[in-house]
Amino acid sequence: MSTASRLQVGVDVPWVTSWSEEPMLGVGPCPSVDGAMALAQADKPGEGRPLYSRNHLFRQRKSVREMLCPMCGKPTAKGDRWSQTGRWTTAREVRDRNMGVWLPQDLKDEHPLFDAGAIAPLHRACAQRALTHCPHLKGMADRELKAFPDAWIIATLAVEARPAANFTNVPQKPVVAITFLQLIGVPDYAG
Ligand SMILES: [Zn+2]
Repeated sequence: MSTASRLQVGVDVPWVTSWSEEPMLGVGPCPSVDGAMALAQADKPGEGRPLYSRNHLFRQRKSVREMLCPMCGKPTAKGDRWSQTGRWTTAREVRDRNMGVWLPQDLKDEHPLFDAGAIAPLHRACAQRALTHCPHLKGMADRELKAFPDAWIIATLAVEARPAANFTNVPQKPVVAITFLQLIGVPDYAG
């Protein structure tokens, strides 16, 4: 029996959203992060039902690395990158949250940064469509679309994964695996 949904990926459901037929697969080298170890997930968008609160691991990483719109999955161009959920912060605040390791050392504490979290910027048209469809976005106090800066830093979130038990009786080392990528916009930085 087909589990294909009538909902269309990229139209009714954001491209980056996970589906119930996309289980976690374990850890392995992943092209989305240049072959680094990452947590993998089955790739069957449109199968089962959409899990709106969960981003798909591979598509999320790809969206951040390649600046793909999380709504439609197509590349965004300079000048058409918008974020509703991100917020302005400063290098000081980012350092205070122990994320400073990702910032250039010469970046001044008062330098403004745009914390997009795990959500790559959207096309303006897609952001507006998402806002009319998504109850979560509609419920946010801040509905303003903010222009995403033309330069950015990508930070990685990782987990320590323990390999599944094997039959060799050799203790296996845990491996660090990337889960999601975080995106920090850096305006006016000539570093
Ligand atoms: Zn789009």
